[in-house]
Amino acid sequence: MSKVYLDHNATTPLDPRVLAAMQPFLSEAFGNASSHHYYGRQARQALEASRALAAKMIGAEPDEIVFTGGGTESDNLALRGIAHHKGSGHIITSSVEHHAVLRTCNALAEDGFSVTFLPVDRRGVVDPDEVKRAIRRDTILISIMLANNETGIIEPVPEIGLIARERGIPFHCDAVQAMGKIPVDVASLHADLLSLSAHKIYGPKGIGALFVKRGTTLSPLITGGHHERGLRAGTENVAAIVGFARALELAVDELDIYNTQVLHLRSKLESNLLAGIEGITLHSDGAERLPHTSCMGFASVEAESILLHLDLKGIAASSGSACTTGESEPSHVLTAMGVSPEIAQGTIRFSLGRENTEEEVDYTAEVLKTAVSQLRAISFPWQEAGTRISITG
Ligand code: PLP
Repeated sequence: MSKVYLDHNATTPLDPRVLAAMQPFLSEAFGNASSHHYYGRQARQALEASRALAAKMIGAEPDEIVFTGGGTESDNLALRGIAHHKGSGHIITSSVEHHAVLRTCNALAEDGFSVTFLPVDRRGVVDPDEVKRAIRRDTILISIMLANNETGIIEPVPEIGLIARERGIPFHCDAVQAMGKIPVDVASLHADLLSLSAHKIYGPKGIGALFVKRGTTLSPLITGGHHERGLRAGTENVAAIVGFARALELAVDELDIYNTQVLHLRSKLESNLLAGIEGITLHSDGAERLPHTSCMGFASVEAESILLHLDLKGIAASSGSACTTGESEPSHVLTAMGVSPEIAQGTIRFSLGRENTEEEVDYTAEVLKTAVSQLRAISFPWQEAGTRISITG
C-alpha cells in the first residue's frame, strides 16, 4: 500500500473535473471581470454564472453570494461585518466552533462586544434551550456551526436558526465541513449568513463564499473597489471561483457517495478498531455525525506517537483540527465535551473521502492495532493500570 489519505477535514485533493473547469481561466481567459472589453466580459460572464450555480446549490439567490478568500474570511466577514455595522451588543456562539469563529469572537470581546460561549453536552451538542436562555435584548448575532470539524457532530441548526428568526436576530452558520456531506439549504437552516470553503469539497484553496440573505446589512472587512456588492473589494479570482462553483455542483450531485460508500468505510474502520483494540473512546458516539469523520481516543498513548507510526506506513490522519496541530493544549472541542486531558491527548481524527477504498481502511486498522500495542508496551500509565482500563464516554 503506497499512500492512504484520511485527513479530508484538513483539506481534499483537487477533483480533476474541477481543474478542467478552471483551466481556461488560468490561461487564455485571463480578463479582469471589471473590464468592459471582450476579455472582461468573458470573465464577468464566468463569474456571474458561477455565482448563480453556487447560489442554486444552497437554495439561495445569486445576489446573496459573496465570494471570499475561504472559510476563515467568510466567518470573519459574518461576525465582524454584523458587529461593526451594529457598533455594540451581544453575540451568542458555542464553545466548539472553529477558531475562525472563536478567535474572532474573542477579538470582538476585546473590542467591547459581549460574547456568550455556550457549553455543549458530552456528545458535543449545543442545546437549543440554552440558546433561548442566552438571548438578551441587545443580542445582535447568533453563530453556530452546522457540523464540527474535529468530531463530525451535527448541531441542531434548523432549531437554533428558527429561534433566532422568530426573535429577529441575525443567524450565522459555519457550514464549511457540512457542505457536500449532508444537505445544506439556507431556508431550512433559517440562516441569514452561511460560510463555505472550496478546499473541503475537492475545490481549490483560498476561495470560499458567504451567503448573505437579502436584507441583512454588513460592514465590509476589505474596502476598495465595488466588487462583490461592496462587501469584498479586490479583483475577483475568476479561476478559483469557477472551480469552487463546479466543486459545489459535484458535491451536491454526489452527496449520496458519502451516505453510502464513505459511511460504509467509516463503519468498517470503527468496528474493526473497536473490536481489535481495548480502551478506545469513540467521541460523539450515538449522536448524529457527518458520515466520514471518526474521532477516537486511545487510552494511555500520545496521538502524536500514533500519527508518527501511521505516517511511516504512508497513512495520513490528524490529531484534531489541522489548525490546532502544533499547539500543546488539548483540543478545545474535546475539553468542552468533558473529555479528560489524557484521552484528549490520545485522540486521532480520521476523515475519509470519496476516493478511499476498503483495502485502505483494512490496512489502516491493521497498522493502528500494531502501533497502539507497541506504544502501550512502553506506556507507563497503561502498564500501571494493569493493561485493563475500561473507558466510556
Ligand atoms: N470553519 C470550519 C468548521 C473549518 O473546519 C475550517 C477549516 O478547517 C474553516 C472554517 C476555515 O476554512 P478555510 O481553511 O477555508 O479558511
